[in-house]
Amino acid sequence: MKPEAAKRQIRAIKGVRDILPPESALWNRVEQTARDVFATYGYGEIRLPIFEETELFARSVGSETDIVSKEMYSFFDPDRDLEDLVEGYISSVRGKGSSPNILEQYVGAGFALLQWFSTRDPDTLTGKPRELALALREKASRQFSETTLDEIPEIISAFQKPMLQYHREFRNAISVAVSLRPEATASVCRAYIEHGMHTLPGDVKLYYIGPMFRRERPQKGRYRQFYQIGAEVLGQSDAPAIDAEVIEMLMAFFHRVGLTGCKLHLNSIGCRDCRPNYVEKLREALLKVKGQLGSDSQRRIETNPLRVLDSKLPEEQPIIEKLPRIGEHLCPACREHFAALQEQLKLRSIAYEINWRLVRGLDYYMRTTFEIIAPGLGAQNAVCGGGRYDGLVELLGGPATKGIGFAIGTDRVVLSLFTPDEDFWLPPRPQPPAQVVKPFTDDDVLPAAPVLDVLIAWMGAAAYPTAVKLARRLRGEGLSVELPAEEMKLKKSLGLADKLGARYAIIIGENEVASGRFTVKRLVDAQQRELGEAELIEFLRSKP
Ligand code: ATP
Ligand code: MG
Repeated sequence: MKPEAAKRQIRAIKGVRDILPPESALWNRVEQTARDVFATYGYGEIRLPIFEETELFARSVGSETDIVSKEMYSFFDPDRDLEDLVEGYISSVRGKGSSPNILEQYVGAGFALLQWFSTRDPDTLTGKPRELALALREKASRQFSETTLDEIPEIISAFQKPMLQYHREFRNAISVAVSLRPEATASVCRAYIEHGMHTLPGDVKLYYIGPMFRRERPQKGRYRQFYQIGAEVLGQSDAPAIDAEVIEMLMAFFHRVGLTGCKLHLNSIGCRDCRPNYVEKLREALLKVKGQLGSDSQRRIETNPLRVLDSKLPEEQPIIEKLPRIGEHLCPACREHFAALQEQLKLRSIAYEINWRLVRGLDYYMRTTFEIIAPGLGAQNAVCGGGRYDGLVELLGGPATKGIGFAIGTDRVVLSLFTPDEDFWLPPRPQPPAQVVKPFTDDDVLPAAPVLDVLIAWMGAAAYPTAVKLARRLRGEGLSVELPAEEMKLKKSLGLADKLGARYAIIIGENEVASGRFTVKRLVDAQQRELGEAELIEFLRSKP
C-alpha cells in the first residue's frame, strides 16, 4: 500500500450515517413504542432479509418507478463454486499461467464442469447456456467416460469455442440479480406466500423494523440508508374497518411517541377498473397544457401521468389545480369503499384531510392511500406513507389476497422529536402492565404463540361503535385485542378466538350496549361474568 493511501481517512459513504448516543436512545424508544403499540393490535414481528432477488421489487414496486429504475443498489451474485470452475476452465483454455500441466488442469476443470452439469437440471438454464449444458451433458454421458488421453485434444476443440463464447452469458445464467431492499412490503408478501401464511386463522398482521436502501440525493431527512417501521395486514377481507384500524394504530403510535401536530392526508386512487380511465383523462388534459409544464412533468405525461400531481414546482401549481381529480372518476365500488372508510375514521374521532394529489410512488397501491405529515421538517415532511395493495400477493404468485400497510420513516420521526439542547429525549415512558414471563424450561424452549388477551365478539351494527371504543380503551391499557372488522355470528367469533389463542372473549350485542355491561368469557373453561366497563378493565388487568 502506498503511504498516502494508508493515511487517507476513510469516512462513511455518502448518504449513510452513524447514529450515536444519546440519539440512539431516542431511536430505541421510538422503536420500542412501535413494538408496544402494535402488539396491542395483535401484530407480530417479522424479520426479513436485507437483500432479495431484484425481480421481487421489479414486479411489485414496478420497473417504471424511480425506485426500481434508478435508485436500487443491485448486483449479480453468481454461484461461487461454478464460477471458480468456469474461471479455471477458461484460464486453462487460454493457456494462461506457466504451469507445465496445462492439459492436466484443463482436463480436471473440464471434468469438474461436466460433473457439475450432470447434477444440475438444465431446465433451470435458458438460451445458449442451456444448449451448451445439454450438449456437454450428452457428451459426458456418451463419450467422456470412454475418453482416452489421445482423444482429449479433439474434445478440447469441440468445447473450447462455445465455452469462451458463452462465458459471459453463462455467468449471467448461473447468477442471481439481487438488490438491497428499497422497501419491505414486497418481502412481506413474498414471505407470506413462501410460508403458506394464508392458511393461518384470521388476518395475518405483521410488522417489521429495519434499514432500507435507495440511491437518492442525500439531504436533511433523506438518506441512502434510512430506516422504516412498517406494518401489513394480509387476508381475505378489504373491509374499510381494516383500513381505519390500521390508521388508528398509526395515530396511537404517533401520539404515544410524542409527535404532536401530525396531519393525516387521505385519498383513494381507485382500482384496476377505474384508474386507467382516469389516467387517460389526466393524460389528455396534460397534453393540452404540455407547453406550460417543466421537462420532468412533460416526460411523465408519457411514462406516469399520476406522478405529475406530485410536482412541487411553484409555477406548475395553478395548472395542476385545474386538472381532473380522481375522486370524480372512481367506480361505484371504490367510491363506496372510500366513503365507508371516512365514516369509520369519524367513528374513531380521527381527523383527516382529503388530498386528491396524493398518489404515492409505488405501482402496487390501489384504493386507500395515506400519508402523515409532521411539522418542522421542511421539504421532507412525510413521516409515513401507506395504502391498500389488493392483488400484490397474487402478482407475486400467491393466492388472491387483500392487503394494506404503511411504512413510517424513523429517521424523520427522530429528527422531529430530537432537540439536542433539551434533556427530553429520554422521558419516562409509560410502562405497559407487567407481563408475567415464565422462565424457559428444557421442554419449553420456544415461547408460546404471541399472547392475545381479548377478542371482542360484536353483533349488530349498533354494537360496533361500542366495540371500537372498548378495544381502544383496552389497548391503551396494554392489552392485546382483536376486533373483527366485519360482523360475525357469535359461534364463529368464539371459534376464531379459540384459533387465535385468545384468553378472553368479550361479547357485545344490543343488550350489552343498552345496559353498559359486557359479558366476559374465559376461553379455557367457558366461565362467564357480566361486568361494567371499569370493572372489566380492572378484571382483565389483574388477570395477566
Ligand atoms: P418521499 O416522498 O419523502 O420521497 P416516499 O413516497 O418515497 O417519500 P415511501 O416509499 O412511502 O416514501 O416510504 C415511507 C416513508 O419512508 C416516507 O414517508 C419517509 O418518511 C420515509 N423515507 C422514504 N425515503 C426516505 C429516504 N431516502 N430517507 C429517509 N426517509 C425516507
Ligand atoms: Mg421517495
